[in-house]
Amino acid sequence: MIYLGAHLSSSKGFYKMGRDALAIGADTFQCFVRNPRGARAKTLDPDDLGRLRDLLREHHFGPVVAHAPYIMNPCSKDEGIRELAARMMEEDLALMEYLPGNCYNFHPGSHVGQGAETGCRQIAEMLDRVVKPGQKTVVLLETMAGKGSEIGGKFEELRLILDMAACRDRLGVCLDTCHVSDGGYDIVNCLDEVLEEFDRIIGLSRLKAVHINDSMNPPGSRKDRHALIGEGTIGKEAIVRVMTHPALAGLPFVLETPTDDKGHGEEIAMLRAAIAGEAESGAAD
Ligand code: FE
Ligand code: FE
Ligand code: ZN
Repeated sequence: MIYLGAHLSSSKGFYKMGRDALAIGADTFQCFVRNPRGARAKTLDPDDLGRLRDLLREHHFGPVVAHAPYIMNPCSKDEGIRELAARMMEEDLALMEYLPGNCYNFHPGSHVGQGAETGCRQIAEMLDRVVKPGQKTVVLLETMAGKGSEIGGKFEELRLILDMAACRDRLGVCLDTCHVSDGGYDIVNCLDEVLEEFDRIIGLSRLKAVHINDSMNPPGSRKDRHALIGEGTIGKEAIVRVMTHPALAGLPFVLETPTDDKGHGEEIAMLRAAIAGEAESGAAD
């Protein structure tokens, strides 16, 4: 079972997003729960969320992923910005409790000269403040490209946050193929080694979701520019190897490639065909 979906562009309600996911052949998806650049939460509509919950169950979706807004920086030097991040995440997590058993993913943030260790401590402090005991949402730290002072370009930094956070039982990691490649992990030629390193440093049991993106830039570029699958430096074959790797079985795979829902539908069909083809050739060996 490979759960495959995309980051959806719709913002017309949660149930509508579930329908949009079905329409593009997805059985998982990612979405923002508020404007990606603004601080205002979408109005919480328990009926709408309930309808989505039923749809996800009925159509056997894998875990879905809510993505925190990009402007969130829990390790900013500015206390007001850190405070805003905590407030946004707290509100988002309250909404997510209407969709129990799913994930909430965020970018750890940029420490802007404070140093990675201080940044990691601030992130852990925020998590301990907003992640509640008994909460039914797993909060995911995303692996990042390491652009500027971005935290999460190295597996060790995510480990440090997990070590510092008392709420670590309710935390996980989302691996982004473009970001790890840009961060210098060679998933094209050394996927097994990269996943072994992830397991040694973070633990594969922490891995709860995967963003599948090609990259416009070579490994180690620390750039973070996503490309369509097959049109970047990672390539379709390497993406399929990620999706079919036994260590990642059962995880939701989410496209964040630069296209719309229709384009994502085409990528989903292409990837499912490639995976089916690989299973066939594997059986013939
Ligand atoms: Fe992201
Ligand atoms: Fe991502
Ligand atoms: Zn990215």
